[in-house]
Amino acid sequence: ANNLVIRNLHVAVDGKEILKGINLTIEEGKIHAIMGPNGSGKSTLAYTLAGHPRYEVTEGEVWYKGQDVLDLEPNDRSKLGLFLAFQYPVAVAGVTVANFLRAALNAHRAQEGVDPKSTAIPMAEYRKVIKSRMDMLEMAPDFARRYLNEGFSGGEKKRLEILQMAMLQPSISIMDETDSGLDIDALKIVAEGVNKVKAEKPELGVLVITHYQRLLNYIKPDYVHVLMNGQIVREGGPEMALELEEKGYDFIREEVFGNA
Ligand code: ADP
Ligand code: MG
Ligand code: MG
Repeated sequence: ANNLVIRNLHVAVDGKEILKGINLTIEEGKIHAIMGPNGSGKSTLAYTLAGHPRYEVTEGEVWYKGQDVLDLEPNDRSKLGLFLAFQYPVAVAGVTVANFLRAALNAHRAQEGVDPKSTAIPMAEYRKVIKSRMDMLEMAPDFARRYLNEGFSGGEKKRLEILQMAMLQPSISIMDETDSGLDIDALKIVAEGVNKVKAEKPELGVLVITHYQRLLNYIKPDYVHVLMNGQIVREGGPEMALELEEKGYDFIREEVFGNA
């Protein structure tokens, strides 16, 4: 199996160092959770892996399938098998969910120097694929005809994210559960979707990034990594999520950084 290997990753935003030497290996077939208090750098890590231009890598490397991920454009990261939940545009006027996902799939199939029309998925085949994915996720057919993010609730955005993942069939999926605004229903949608996609493709590796332990009641992690102050300060099994739920983050902060 291939692993996603992050070595000594340092990232700055607007000239300020946020990630201070992250070492982390995500194994295919395993569920990894990154937990950490607000402001610890969780979303910074996710955005960096997604290739967001605002996040400046000042040191370190990220390897997957023999490639330095940091050298790749976001679409090539996606073609390599990395799925980053927020790669979709926030709002695109006049584009339906079905059309957006077809474009995403076709971007995956495109090859350099080849007419994209010749690699595009035929419409009849596309309809079958999207229907089978939506059936698997128990999604109402209407959803495909909705306009992208127009009045989408938090839960619907998450549904789109999961459907996109199910369509693109990644080998490593990275999901940042932003710590605000996700109600329990949206968390369940994410968890059930991830579990279904994973049941179908056991070799899928998943990195869930979350502030709250409650998501991990629905997605059972194999490994938990605690991010604090831009560094991974603890690693353990699923029991660590429960310990954090019980004791909060302060006891780790004191152990690692002292009381100062
Ligand atoms: P988390 O997701 O763990 O809550 P973030 O990665 O969002 O943490 O933020 C980590 C730190 O980086 C915080 O101190 C935050 O204020 C800072 N930060 C994040 N994004 C930006 C930004 N775009 N501009 C300036 N500072 C930022
Ligand atoms: Mg935050
Ligand atoms: Mg965050």
